[in-house]
Amino acid sequence: MTLLDGKATSNTIKDELTVAVAARKEAGKKIPHLAAVLVGNDGASMTYVNSKVKACERVGYKSTLITLDASTSEEQLLSEIASLNANSDIDGFIVQLPLPKHIDEQKILLAIDPAKDVDGFHPMNVGKMALNLPTFLPATPYGILELLKRYQVETSGQHVVVIGRSHIVGEPMSILLAQKRAQGNATVTLTHSRTKNLKAITLQADIIVAALGIPEFLTGDMVKQGVTIIDVGITRVEDDSKKRGYRLAGDVDFASVSPKASFITPVPGGVGPMTIAMLLKNTLQACENRD
Ligand code: NAD
Repeated sequence: MTLLDGKATSNTIKDELTVAVAARKEAGKKIPHLAAVLVGNDGASMTYVNSKVKACERVGYKSTLITLDASTSEEQLLSEIASLNANSDIDGFIVQLPLPKHIDEQKILLAIDPAKDVDGFHPMNVGKMALNLPTFLPATPYGILELLKRYQVETSGQHVVVIGRSHIVGEPMSILLAQKRAQGNATVTLTHSRTKNLKAITLQADIIVAALGIPEFLTGDMVKQGVTIIDVGITRVEDDSKKRGYRLAGDVDFASVSPKASFITPVPGGVGPMTIAMLLKNTLQACENRD
């Protein structure tokens, strides 16, 4: 069993980005600048946004964190987005999801300038992604492709079972892996909460991407010998033995699945850090596009 070490791989990518930024500086070019908008004070969202800002500092990017009160209106958020669109120093920005219930997420995503949409969530960029045209790939699926690439996991001709059909992970992952591309050419089955007899399907999988958000859902009896496992899930599970009162759990029961796996991502330290690294990669791309 080989651990797909997202933490180490993301550090390698960050080192590569640091070199690229230094070279830009040397050449008198613009330093990439990422902005993040956080609405409200959800604990997990605050952690994610802070990690993204910290990662920017680590590679030498400029970063701007805009925190807005949970009571911020849709109009106020739209006006914040308009000013980020217009700000020529900002290469890319993200609006951390989920948003408070009174704000229409689709309306917000649609307002982001597609050229600055480094999360790749704007419908125009989603369309380009689906057509296999150059665009910003959503960071989590992009990170998974990169992890598979760097560990030389074969996807061509393999049966991939994706569990979960969210717009940010499962759905784009299924599209990308089925495309004619490196880390593609797979036969993909996209499963979800209405799927019948999931176990019969996962037992046929060469690669499983678990992105459903139910801790330790995928167990050893649901996978075949030699399977590759990508565990996207991150759920905070109460744990009194931890100082912070919780532990992070994946969607995969690592103890029973890992003995049968040829490759497997840990949680934490698997897909999570790769997501941040690819957001940085997209930001550099946005900056280069504007050169
Ligand atoms: P989501 O929470 O929006 O949706 C869950 C999906 O799982 C739905 O499509 C649903 O149909 C499916 N599902 C639910 N129960 C199921 C069942 N019993 N069998 C099969 N499918 C079922 O999905 P999301 O936003 O992609 O999040 C999934 C998990 O991934 C969460 O734990 C989230 O925190 C995590 N996540 C991690 C990263 C990362 O960077 N590592 C990024 C995004 C999301």
